Amino acid sequence: MTPPEPMPAPLAPGSTIGILGGGQLGRMSALAAARLGYRCHVFAPDADSPGMQVSAAHTLAEYDDLEALARFAESVDVVTFEFENVPVATLRALEGRVPCRPGNKALSVCQDRITEKRFLAAAGVPVAPWREVNSESELRDAIAEIGLPAVLKTTRLGYDGRGQAVLRRPEDVAPAFARLSPKPLILEAFVPFSAEISGIAARGLDGTVATYDAIENQHRNHILALSFAPARLPPAAAEAARAHVAQVAAALELVGVVALEMFLLPDGSLLGNEIAPRPHNSGHWTMDACLCGQFEQHIRAVAGLPLGSPARHADAVMRNLVGPEGLAAWPALVARADVVAHWYGKAEARTGRKLGHANRLLPMNALAGDAQPEAF
Ligand code: AMP
Repeated sequence: MTPPEPMPAPLAPGSTIGILGGGQLGRMSALAAARLGYRCHVFAPDADSPGMQVSAAHTLAEYDDLEALARFAESVDVVTFEFENVPVATLRALEGRVPCRPGNKALSVCQDRITEKRFLAAAGVPVAPWREVNSESELRDAIAEIGLPAVLKTTRLGYDGRGQAVLRRPEDVAPAFARLSPKPLILEAFVPFSAEISGIAARGLDGTVATYDAIENQHRNHILALSFAPARLPPAAAEAARAHVAQVAAALELVGVVALEMFLLPDGSLLGNEIAPRPHNSGHWTMDACLCGQFEQHIRAVAGLPLGSPARHADAVMRNLVGPEGLAAWPALVARADVVAHWYGKAEARTGRKLGHANRLLPMNALAGDAQPEAF
């Protein structure tokens, strides 16, 4: 019998972490890495990206630029990614030259809603009924089985509500099928949820899993607006949310942070919806309300360090600062004593763009019960 492979040593301080993607998730990961003594090298196609602004080095290149990827691999000690639409071929070009954490498995499962649904069910996370749809007649058959209302989605490259349509009446079917592309599509039963919940877990190089308290999310115009932590859930549902995301982290064999978006049903049960194999917007509150926030946790995992404690020391409400309205809210929020404010350094305050976020900290258990926290 071959002995198990020895655990690689943690990255020494001063080592360089390569990050594919230059957005705010990479920026906050790079800031957490700097605190632990690591340098970051961001690889992204957009100049002056939020991640590049705070990193020791960057490569400005397209994800299919194999020469640039080869040079990048030479210059870093490990590679991670900050958004899940990095092409699988990009990671494939890096694997074998440098450790990639998480690896291609997490990326490929999460890039396709059909693979993702099958994966969730196999990992023991219940999902709403769904059907793969390649043609209008398949869509009509699927509706006959699943019923209306239902949600029709593209299987790839959808985010923040793009690439989907709610079908309520038979006359919605043909226009939605024609509009949504690329095919195939997926038809999902409409879930009459009472709340949207997410779970966040980190999994270390040694397989240890740490989970955060479940989070309740509210969206505006399909974009996350507010997250409440902890979620106001019956204890069994709160435990199930943590267990489900831990199951996902283990089944993905992921090294890093993963988020699982779920629907809470009126009977207290949960259905899995979407996986993000990276730090997640709904976990931003952990930066200020937990001993070790999600970005530090991600860097610890990627660097092979022991995970930190996910324990929460305050209740928190996270508000996303989006577009011109977010820009206008910034001066008052950054002045508040109960708020920790984060700004991403994006060049333009375009409508719908996430520009920063504010974490309002509250005493422990302030969110318990039915009391609605004051809006901020
Ligand atoms: P997604 O891109 O899958 O995260 O969906 C974006 C949003 O659409 C979710 O946050 C929900 O508010 C809503 N949604 C997605 N799928 C369903 C569904 N099957 N039933 C009801 N609402 C859904």
